[in-house]
Amino acid sequence: MSHAVVIGSSLSGLLAARVLSDYVDQVTVLERDELPEQAEYRGSVPQARHLHVLLAKGREILTQLFPRFEADFAALGIATIDIGLDTSAFTAGGWTKRVRAGVLSNPVSRVTIDWYVYSQLRQHPNVTFLSRREVQRLVTDADRRIVTGVEVLNREDQSTQTLAADLVIDASGRTSKTPQWLQDLGYDAPPRTVVNSYLGYATRWFQMPAGQTFDWHILLITALPTKGNFRGGAIQRIEGDRWVVTLGGVNKTYPPTDDDGFLEFARQLPSTAIYEIIKDAEPISPVYGYRRTENIWNHYERLSRHPEHLLVMGDAYCGFNPIYGQGMSVAAMEAQKLDELLRQYGPAGLSPAVFYGVLAKIIANPWLLATGEDLRYPGTEGDRPGWLARMAQKYVDRVIAVLPLDEVVGTAFIKVNNLMEPPQVLFRPDIIARVLGYTLRGVRQDESLNAPVQPMKPAVGD
Ligand SMILES: Cc1cc2nc3c(=O)[nH]c(=O)nc-3n(C[C@H](O)[C@H](O)[C@H](O)COP(=O)(O)OP(=O)(O)OC[C@H]3O[C@@H](n4cnc5c(N)ncnc54)[C@H](O)[C@@H]3O)c2cc1C
Repeated sequence: MSHAVVIGSSLSGLLAARVLSDYVDQVTVLERDELPEQAEYRGSVPQARHLHVLLAKGREILTQLFPRFEADFAALGIATIDIGLDTSAFTAGGWTKRVRAGVLSNPVSRVTIDWYVYSQLRQHPNVTFLSRREVQRLVTDADRRIVTGVEVLNREDQSTQTLAADLVIDASGRTSKTPQWLQDLGYDAPPRTVVNSYLGYATRWFQMPAGQTFDWHILLITALPTKGNFRGGAIQRIEGDRWVVTLGGVNKTYPPTDDDGFLEFARQLPSTAIYEIIKDAEPISPVYGYRRTENIWNHYERLSRHPEHLLVMGDAYCGFNPIYGQGMSVAAMEAQKLDELLRQYGPAGLSPAVFYGVLAKIIANPWLLATGEDLRYPGTEGDRPGWLARMAQKYVDRVIAVLPLDEVVGTAFIKVNNLMEPPQVLFRPDIIARVLGYTLRGVRQDESLNAPVQPMKPAVGD
């Protein structure tokens, strides 16, 4: 009987387990937390208190892995939105043009996403969840070439147990111990690239005011690094007519977590639209802070030696600055690739080198988008971009400047940011022609920024 073990039951682990269940007889998911009996917060996923955008790419893959996803989400009262139409965004170019981009998302709390996937998997007869089980080390064959299982601490009674496995997937997030475990076994730890913009989050939940409607599901105010304003924020309307409001400050412009400081920070964003909306709204949570936001890529794909039957996925492989909303979607893209590779090679034949090589290609574009943006800020730590990348940044500035004006450019930009298209799309000749056309006609970034801004006025009624 073939058996796979997954370390961690957050989104990467859950999606890996979903895929593995089609290829092995038994999947065991080991989670150090107590697993919830309903959609609720748990301590090892602290990010769940903060706004999570489900990018269109991640949503698309979830609908494939869980065919009832759309109907089930609708039944839970979760909206399906077009990110182009239902997002009101203020960027360096001003308020962007709202476009029907065909780029879909579900504005939903993170706990509900995880709960949905987990409760679906609990119905799979060959997937078992063991909670309060912390993996402490890898177990191998005598010459340490093949991982044959894991040693697990039972946090209930402090006993340890060895669990045999034909394949182990580490989806334990940013605190993954695999680099250390590899060294303990005589392998190299993966080289690590870190790009840290020192972004801090502060998030508060609000009840939407009764009897009022708003013409957006997401209200986004981006920071303007070229204008020296490093503060941004967003409101997402989620299930239960609640708002999750996340404020972020880059290069240690950390948003305060006290009531007045939170509001004052909102007032200092490049637009006061968020402040105007939340200042009289009813908070239903304290303000939560979060600062572990650096991009970290553990380059497993660069290692020349790997123990067989061990794979690392999700944030444990590469974690992104969360402000770009990519982590869950990249986890889904990785799970999709795992599916393809297992179909091709089978669980016993899939070599780590092949796996990491393929995943590195998935990671490359989101990494470029996140770090390229982060490195615009002077206080960001990491290798500065070369001249070519700086030219590309300048061009992207022009793209952003025309977002209030041009639907075609806007749609391409939204698709790239939702990982539906690669960033190279922005350099397609027709897009370049449109962007440069505005520039030549004299519509510059500064002018459009100064153009009258449509304040987000709540529409009363409905
Ligand atoms: C503030 C913030 C906001 C974010 N916003 C977004 C967003 O808008 N959109 C988006 O797509 N992504 C977002 N992300 C990223 C997203 O949360 C992650 O990419 C996603 O959770 C996938 O991570 P993961 O499953 O690999 O790891 P994690 O979510 O970190 O989960 C790791 C799991 O492994 C368990 N574990 C760890 N060690 C062990 C062990 N030894 N034994 C057993 N279990 C163990 C933990 O308890 C946990 O359950 C955000 C992240 C942060 C920090």
